[in-house]
Amino acid sequence: MESVLTKPEIHSLSAAGGTPVSIAFGDGIGPEIMTAVLTTMVEAGAKLELYPVEIGESVYKAGFSSGIEPDSWDIIRNTKAFLKAPITTPQGGGYKSLNVTIRKSLGLYANIRPCPTYAPFIATAHPEMDIVVIRENEEDLYAGIEHRQTDQVYQCLKLITRPGCERICRYAFEYAVAHGRKKVTCMTKDNIMKLTDGLFHQVFNEVAADYPQIQADHKIIDIGMAKAATQPEAFDVIVAPNLYGDILSDVTAEVAGSVGIAPSSNIGPHCAMFEAIHGSAPDIAGQNVANPSGLLLAAVMMLVHIGQPEVASKIHNAWLRTVEDGIHTADIYTPGRSEKLVGTREFAQAVRDRLGLLPLVLTPVAYTQHVEALPTLDLHAHKAEAKELVGIDIFVQWTGAVDELAVKLKRASCPGLDLQMITNRGVKVWPNGFPETFHTDHWRCRFLSEPMAPVSPDLVIALIAGIYGAGLDFIKAETLCLFDGKPGFSLGQGQ
Ligand code: NAD
Repeated sequence: MESVLTKPEIHSLSAAGGTPVSIAFGDGIGPEIMTAVLTTMVEAGAKLELYPVEIGESVYKAGFSSGIEPDSWDIIRNTKAFLKAPITTPQGGGYKSLNVTIRKSLGLYANIRPCPTYAPFIATAHPEMDIVVIRENEEDLYAGIEHRQTDQVYQCLKLITRPGCERICRYAFEYAVAHGRKKVTCMTKDNIMKLTDGLFHQVFNEVAADYPQIQADHKIIDIGMAKAATQPEAFDVIVAPNLYGDILSDVTAEVAGSVGIAPSSNIGPHCAMFEAIHGSAPDIAGQNVANPSGLLLAAVMMLVHIGQPEVASKIHNAWLRTVEDGIHTADIYTPGRSEKLVGTREFAQAVRDRLGLLPLVLTPVAYTQHVEALPTLDLHAHKAEAKELVGIDIFVQWTGAVDELAVKLKRASCPGLDLQMITNRGVKVWPNGFPETFHTDHWRCRFLSEPMAPVSPDLVIALIAGIYGAGLDFIKAETLCLFDGKPGFSLGQGQ
C-alpha cells in the first residue's frame, strides 16, 4: 500500500452496505495519517461506505473562502459521521477557519477531548490523571464577528447564549453519568465577565442541581488551568466556554503525554465529526514521521458512535499493545523507555499486526454500544423576562480632549436621556477621570434615563441623529435594557 491512498484504493476499502462515513484527507500530514487510519480500520473489520470530500488548502486556493465546496455539505449531512484529517488555514484575511465553520454550521456543539495517560509507556509527570475536557464548540469569541471600529481599535464580539450554556453543561453532566465519572468542574472568568461568563457559571449551577450524584465545582479559568497543568489528578470532567476549552485541552493533552495522540469528537443532534486535536504539521509533512494516533483514536470514537464498538475495541487494544511494546513515533519516542523508533507507516503496520491482542499492563478497553445521550432541551422552560429600554451606549471615534467631547455630546442629547458617563476601553474617564488613564480614539458614551425609566425608541433614534448632527464620528450603539427590572449591562470600570 502506498503512503497515501489513491482514489481506486479508497474505493476498494469502501464496503457497500457499510455505515456511510465522509472522510477528508486534509493537508500537511493529513493524507499520510488518514491512509494509516483507514487501512487499519478496514483491516480490523470496520464496515464503512466511504465518501471522500475535498476540503482545505486546495479548495481555499480554488476561490472558496470557506475551504469547502458547496456540494460537500450534502455529503457530510447525509453520512452523519465525518472523519476529518487536519487542514491548513491559509494565513491572512479573507479566509474563514473551516473547522469552526463545520462545527457551527452543522450544530456540533459539544467538543469532547479525553486526555488519559499511557504511563509508563508514554512519558508524563502525572500518570494518574484522566481528564475529559468538554468544550462548548459554537459560541464565545468563535462567533467570528470582528470589526475595525476606529483608526486604533478593533473589536471581537463574545457571544454567550442561555441555550448554548445549557446544552453544553447538560452534555457534560450526561457524559459524566454515562461514563461513570464523579465530578464536573466548570471553568470561566466570571469575576471579570459577569454577564457572559457569569451566565455560563449560573446555568452550570442550575444544571448541576439536576445531577446530585455528580460533584460539581467551579474554578476561575486562570488558576483552574494552572492547577490542571500542575495537579491534573484533581480533575475529572471539565466543561468550559469555547476559547478556554480550546486552550485548556491542548494543555491537558500535552501534560498527559503528547498533543499528537489526543483525539476529539464534535457532537451535535444531526451529525458528528471526529478529528485529532493537532494541526496539519506542515513542518513534517510527507516525511513518514507523523504520529497517526490522534486520528486513529478519533476513528475509535467514531466507530463507537456509529455502532461498531467491537471494531473500536479491537483497534484501541492493538494500539495500546503497540504503545506498550515500545513501538513509538518520534514525538513520543524516549530513549531507554521506547524499544523502536518508527515512521507513520510502520507504526500503523505495528497496530495492524497486533489486532486481536490485548495490552498486558495498560487497562484493555471493551466498548459497548453507546448511544450518545444528547440532552433534550425545553427552550421554552426559561420564561422570557420583561425587557425595558432605559438608555443607550453610543460609541464614537474622537481624538480630542474628553471634556470637549462631553460638551458636544451634551449638546446632541435629548431631554429624557442624559449623558451619564464616558469610558475609554471600558474605564470611566468622564466625569472625574484620572489624568493617568490612557486614551485611545474609541469612546463609549452612556446615555441613561433618570431614574432608569423606560424610554421610547424614537428618543434613541433622535439621539443618534443628534450625534451625527453634531459632526461626531458615530461607530455603533448598544441599547441599555432592564430585564425584569435588573440591568442587562455592566457598569463602567471605576463607575
Ligand atoms: P500543529 O498541531 O500542526 O503542529 C504543532 C507541532 O506539533 C509541530 O511541531 C508539529 O510537527 C507537531 N505535530 C503535530 N501533529 C503531530 C503528529 N501527529 N505527529 C508528530 N508531530 C506532530 O500546529 P500548528 O503548527 O500551529 O498549525 C499548523 C496548521 O494546522 C495551521 O494552518 C493551523 O491552522 C492548522 N490547524 C488545523 C487544525 C485542524 O484541522 N483541526 C487544528 C489546529 C491547527
